[in-house]
Amino acid sequence: MGESATLRVARRALELKARGISLVDFGAGEPDFDSPGVAVEAARQALANGFTRYTASSGTPELRAAIAERARTRHGAPWSPRQTVVTVGGKAALFELALALFEEGQEVVLPSPSWVSFDEQIRFAGAHPVPVPTRTEDGFRIHAGPILAAVTERTRAILLNSPCNPTGGIIAADDLREIVRCAAARGLLVISDETYERFVYGQPHASAADLAAEFPETVVLVGSFSKTYAMTGWRVGYLMGPSAVVQAVEAIQSHATSNPTSFAMVGALAALAGAEMAVTEMIAEYEARRELLIPRLNQLPGFRCQPPDGAFYAFPDVSAAYRTGRQGSVEFAEFLLEEARVAVVPGAAFGADDHIRISFACSRAQLLAGLERMAAVLG
Ligand code: PLP
Repeated sequence: MGESATLRVARRALELKARGISLVDFGAGEPDFDSPGVAVEAARQALANGFTRYTASSGTPELRAAIAERARTRHGAPWSPRQTVVTVGGKAALFELALALFEEGQEVVLPSPSWVSFDEQIRFAGAHPVPVPTRTEDGFRIHAGPILAAVTERTRAILLNSPCNPTGGIIAADDLREIVRCAAARGLLVISDETYERFVYGQPHASAADLAAEFPETVVLVGSFSKTYAMTGWRVGYLMGPSAVVQAVEAIQSHATSNPTSFAMVGALAALAGAEMAVTEMIAEYEARRELLIPRLNQLPGFRCQPPDGAFYAFPDVSAAYRTGRQGSVEFAEFLLEEARVAVVPGAAFGADDHIRISFACSRAQLLAGLERMAAVLG
């Protein structure tokens, strides 16, 4: 696996921070909120009670059952607790799926721009990612037509991520159904990474779980506690899918991570049962930040930004602001860091060199400060 060239920008931001230089950080892909109190308290109790040993490799029976039950009540999904594996974050779920499912020479179709780890995980397993462009003018929506047109006899799976990191693009229920229906007809899997499922603005989230009862051999769902519950450091995610897929993943997990951290799973269970109010409040705050940020980004010279339909990232096209010395997203991010003391992620990390990613998982005051700093150097 290659180290991303864009890590240079991240490393430089850390160096500046360590020197005590005031930075506005729009780089972080994680909520700025505290984890829900009920989760913290439950994990604390679990520790105090000595719940500190190995659990079953695929997660505690209680958490597996609660995740499966939620998918059933919310989406009518047919997955049993045995078809539900708790993993060390959504990232481990995706990695284990790649190792379990993909072979040398196979292809995995996925919308692009896409999250940095998808490509690396697919390649690590020996398969080839086949990126299908989504477009800024269209709000980076994922459409069935281009995705299905990229399917060949070598395709093993279609990997969707809605809402998408970094674009905020989503998929409509009709397009999702069409993809799953055609994938089922061809014996392909649809892996749906719904890490950002709760972060959708002004419309319902179309979940692949809604289609799992109809297409039980096709749909694989990946989810996470990280973003929804502001629990990134706890490292709890999960996957659900056909029994054969789940069993292959369980075998890998039993030799790789074993169980996710015992008391973190107790915290996750408490979050699932009792943090809905906190989640609703956090989402309302993201919505307010999005409304504050996007119009102001569009006022910056050379910036063009569609309001994201989901997730907590703005992904403006900034190519009209490129000049000699700040050409391309990496140099432009370095320019913002050095001149404005604002940290962003270069779009090149996601295969989109005309863009930068700005996270609005930070306070409104930080957003306004960063906008002001950028305006001052772009003016
Ligand atoms: N999928 C996407 C699209 C992400 O952006 C992330 C994290 O940034 C993950 C999966 C994995 O998150 P975690 O491993 O914290 O659950």
